Amino acid sequence: MKVQEACSELGIEVGADAATLKLAYRRLARETRPDMIGQDPVLVDRFIRGKLAYEYLVANGTSPPSLFGGETPRRGRDISITLEVSIADLLGRSDVMVPPGSPVCTVCDGSGRVPSRAPVRCPDCNGQGHVIRYFGTMSTRTRCESCHGTGEVSTCPCTACGGSGKNPIGVRPPSLRLERGTRDGDQVVIQGAGVPGIGGGAAGDLRLTISVRPDPRVKLHGDDALLRIRRPVSDFVRGAEFEIQGLESRERYRVSLPSGSSGRTHVMVPGAGLPRRDGTRGNIVALVEPAPVEPGDRRGGERP
Ligand SMILES: [Zn+2]
Ligand SMILES: [Zn+2]
Repeated sequence: MKVQEACSELGIEVGADAATLKLAYRRLARETRPDMIGQDPVLVDRFIRGKLAYEYLVANGTSPPSLFGGETPRRGRDISITLEVSIADLLGRSDVMVPPGSPVCTVCDGSGRVPSRAPVRCPDCNGQGHVIRYFGTMSTRTRCESCHGTGEVSTCPCTACGGSGKNPIGVRPPSLRLERGTRDGDQVVIQGAGVPGIGGGAAGDLRLTISVRPDPRVKLHGDDALLRIRRPVSDFVRGAEFEIQGLESRERYRVSLPSGSSGRTHVMVPGAGLPRRDGTRGNIVALVEPAPVEPGDRRGGERP
């Protein structure tokens, strides 16, 4: 079945909206439903054809999938992907690569067809169950392979890829820089970076869900970054000054542990945490713990 055929079956225009489609189907059902107006074979036939057309249009949309011809402009599909970033990427100083995406349509796994809600007329034989091939003046009639001669199939073309089976990767940019204040789970929308439109329609959007890769060294808590650092026991007794690495390798901060610290001491570096939208930053909170004492090691933490 083609979109044009299905639309004329229901008496609506190609490209009609969902409400018009629903209304046309309700009208058809009211006029022809066999359980309401008896078993008139003509009406029953009209009802079945209309029902098939309706189901086809619900599954495929009322606009033709073809890329050719003066058809109604249709907006391209949005693409939603998860963008994995590091904690350092949240600083917004370097570009994050946008993955190129799977070459195969992820909705239909590359087959170009998806299960339909109800059996639909086989598109290859137009519901006849057989196909006629012409060789010059001769013709042969063979059983349709697509529907095994039944005239009906339980799949319809995948709307996500237009039946091509290829993944519409759209016009997504190769990389982007995260804005200050971006956090795990945020959605970043790049308008017009989705699938190109059809017939002069606008391109869809690229929707990126930000997923921050776990870091064994750093835990995030709101705008703060929590670190865990081990120092020799002697540092806690005598006090010490040492350097810790911030969220990026080039960020280094000198911190000090006061003498006589009683173990497990919190050291804070204000303004070294995650950037906020207003330009300020959260804090680094480092939990400094005594390194475990090795057996026979009297100095604790530091080997002789
Ligand atoms: Zn597909
Ligand atoms: Zn067939």
